[in-house]
Amino acid sequence: MTEPGGLVSAYVHDAELDAEATVRPKRLSEFIAQDRVRDQLDLLLQGAMRRGSPPDHILLSGPPGLGKTSLANIVAAELGAGIRVTSGPAIERSGDLAAILTSLAEGDVLFIDEIHRIAKPAEELLYSAMEDFRVDVVVGKGPGATAIPLDVEPFTLVGATTRSGLLTGPMRDRFGFVAHLDFYAPGELELLLQRSARILGVRITEEGAREVAGRSRGTPRIANRLLRRVRDFAEVRADGIVTLEIARAALKVYDVDALGLDRLDRAVLTALVEAFRGGPVGLSTLAVAVGEQPDTVEEVCEPFLVRAGLLARTPRGRVATEAAWRHLGHTPPTGTFGANPISAPDLFTAGEDERP
Ligand code: ADP
Repeated sequence: MTEPGGLVSAYVHDAELDAEATVRPKRLSEFIAQDRVRDQLDLLLQGAMRRGSPPDHILLSGPPGLGKTSLANIVAAELGAGIRVTSGPAIERSGDLAAILTSLAEGDVLFIDEIHRIAKPAEELLYSAMEDFRVDVVVGKGPGATAIPLDVEPFTLVGATTRSGLLTGPMRDRFGFVAHLDFYAPGELELLLQRSARILGVRITEEGAREVAGRSRGTPRIANRLLRRVRDFAEVRADGIVTLEIARAALKVYDVDALGLDRLDRAVLTALVEAFRGGPVGLSTLAVAVGEQPDTVEEVCEPFLVRAGLLARTPRGRVATEAAWRHLGHTPPTGTFGANPISAPDLFTAGEDERP
């Protein structure tokens, strides 16, 4: 799937990899928020270092842009270990994975991003590497094929996934430490923005940081991206300081509204409220109304609209919530969701994985 690349997309754009690396936290103490995960990881790593053996394998799950890659690098840094980075889709053949595994040095961290997308034969090879630090490499084909057992140095696997539900049971069972990252609260993103601003040399007021944080969809990656855009505006059109007014003016230019919705998000809500009187309306009809592919509406816009409580997916179709009517400056029809009443049991807020 091509990854959506808008200003408030949680996916990383190729062009911003360097900019991300600049502000990426390097140690656990620099990693903002997610206190529970940080605390647990701290114990795991300290315990392992005391014993002088690698820690359990670590699985990090959660939506894109919340810090999984950062944590993988932090694990290696805290252990004083080397890190090898790859991803599920990059490992097409089990031979690719065997080559990586057998070249690891003792204590190395192997980071596999999007681990749920790893090919089945490679996944099976990974099991024995994780469990026994051993892999069987099959040489030759057909009846003459032989399996050559190879040793793997003790290592720590850090797996990251945005779709933990798609991981197989045996895969999940082999991780001794599983952590889920949640969306960040606005106050946490404010701290994160202040840290990034210090690193980038951007002057930002408390109110300015709060404004950008509130529009960042609970996602550090988006917060950092908006900070870079707001800084451009402040430097070109003002005196370089990101104040509340400058943040608002900049985000208006970039079409990111007070809730962090972009043009397409608002188009979807506007169509739903104005053209379909709040719904319910089917996904494909809604997509045609905004001139987009159904997949784009479903995968790019809806997850956040659902999470923000602006749109509900119901068995009868998409429905605008009262908050959506209000956000667009309309008065919601009384006592119902949309103009066509929907009974309460019909309503459920689908998670990102559900596609009614
Ligand atoms: P993921 O791997 O989950 O998509 P990343 O680890 O690449 O997310 O994080 C995206 C960006 O957000 C990184 O450049 C990093 O600077 C920033 N970031 C994420 N989480 C934090 C955090 N807790 N503290 C500071 N910066 C963070």
